[in-house]
Amino acid sequence: MKVQLLGSSVGNAMRDQYVSSYLINRTVAIDAGCLGLHGTPQDQEAVRHLFLTHSHSDHTATLPIFLENAWTPVGDGPRIYGSSETLDGVQRYIFNDVMWPDFIALSKKMRPFLHMCPLQAETEVKVEGLHITPVQVDHLVPTFGYVISDSRSAIIVAGDTGPTNRLWEFAWRTTGLRAIFLEACFPNSMRQLAETSCHLTPEMFCREVAKMPAGVKVVAVHIKVRYRDEVVSELRALGLPDLEIGEGEKEYNF
Ligand SMILES: [Zn+2]
Ligand SMILES: [Zn+2]
Repeated sequence: MKVQLLGSSVGNAMRDQYVSSYLINRTVAIDAGCLGLHGTPQDQEAVRHLFLTHSHSDHTATLPIFLENAWTPVGDGPRIYGSSETLDGVQRYIFNDVMWPDFIALSKKMRPFLHMCPLQAETEVKVEGLHITPVQVDHLVPTFGYVISDSRSAIIVAGDTGPTNRLWEFAWRTTGLRAIFLEACFPNSMRQLAETSCHLTPEMFCREVAKMPAGVKVVAVHIKVRYRDEVVSELRALGLPDLEIGEGEKEYNF
């Protein structure tokens, strides 16, 4: 499985992750924070399945741009998956004929821009040779983490979350689990803000790692760019043996 954390800043895409998007095997994406700014329109057209973790803008900001880039007069639109709450938010606050044309209504009258596919928590879907299971995590709005596996290996993209449990139960029962992409938003000094906004600091990150099976790579992502140096040094000070700091544009192979 090839996993790419898409870079989201001009000039320092490796380092600074303002918004979130992942690409898996070039045809499946998780979140659309920066998906609509990635590569060529042909690269974006190749993404046939997009799984949204939740409705927040740093995960959906370029969804309209992605759909516009991916659309062709002869092709079919990509399938957009998420909880019913997330898809409802996308419909109401993005495709509302104010923020953007109502692509959902237009898709019933012309070549579809997209297909909306609501997911049930803990019910697996199969796309492009991948098995993808949404699991609820703990954030300000309903949010899914995703367990993603193929015939060889598995990864977890935890989404935005504060302290959580159910996802780690899935981690323990997932065979071939190679990596968990987990957020570390704020430095330890901003714990109160992390708790209020249902995110993690490095200290809280460490407590989550203790709940996971050992020997699985943990990739720290979603680090607030303004506090990045502080967060990275606090993460490194934890001495976690399997920690890696996420890098934009890098292709991870599992
Ligand atoms: Zn969020
Ligand atoms: Zn976020």
